[in-house]
Amino acid sequence: MIRRAANAALDLLYPPRCAGCGKFDLPLCAHCADLLSEAAGQGRCPFCTAAWDGDGNCPRCFHLHELEGVRAAFEMAGTARNLVHALKYRYYRAVAPLMAAALPPLADDLGIDRYYPVPLHRSREKRRGFNQSALLLTLAGWQPAPGLRRVRKTERQVGQRLGERRANVAGAFEYDGPRLDGLTVALVDDVVTTGATVMECARSLQDAGARTVWALAFARASYSPQTDEPIDD
Ligand SMILES: [Zn+2]
Ligand SMILES: [Zn+2]
Repeated sequence: MIRRAANAALDLLYPPRCAGCGKFDLPLCAHCADLLSEAAGQGRCPFCTAAWDGDGNCPRCFHLHELEGVRAAFEMAGTARNLVHALKYRYYRAVAPLMAAALPPLADDLGIDRYYPVPLHRSREKRRGFNQSALLLTLAGWQPAPGLRRVRKTERQVGQRLGERRANVAGAFEYDGPRLDGLTVALVDDVVTTGATVMECARSLQDAGARTVWALAFARASYSPQTDEPIDD
């Protein structure tokens, strides 16, 4: 599926250069696509998709009670990390269709009524020219639901621990769309790390009546103080 999307992406105007290895070929070459590590099945937390060998949910899940669960396509490592960074920091949009192609299967059995991109602050979106979460959501074939806004600019969250991240995003989002009473909704992001950002968004949607909030992401960063990733901008 990723390969097929990779070929389709050739039509874009960007010079096709693999986001994984830099070779001139496709936005993602076949070799690097094969290196993507699926975030599912054995050795993953059943609730939040993070790498986890223990029984039941992993310890990080205790902080994610606003969510029904986190589903992600790939472990945030190697090729997946290269793709996330290529889109977010190098604005290499040719990789977006391949990343988005991995999202729809995550929502297959969830009965999602509304999909929300994790919003960027207006000034940041203006500078970048796009919101990577909204781009992925749309390319996945979903309709972005209106109303969720980032009202406060937050610090970049590189290297911050969960407690700091929660303080950083507290009150950063506002929902001013229609009521969501009884609905099942999904937040879509490129990568979920601690979950602080999606939880804060989930709280706003629940205040508007949403019954169930899922987080869907291209990549899931498993906990490690050494590999903590920015989750935010
Ligand atoms: Zn490659
Ligand atoms: Zn977990």
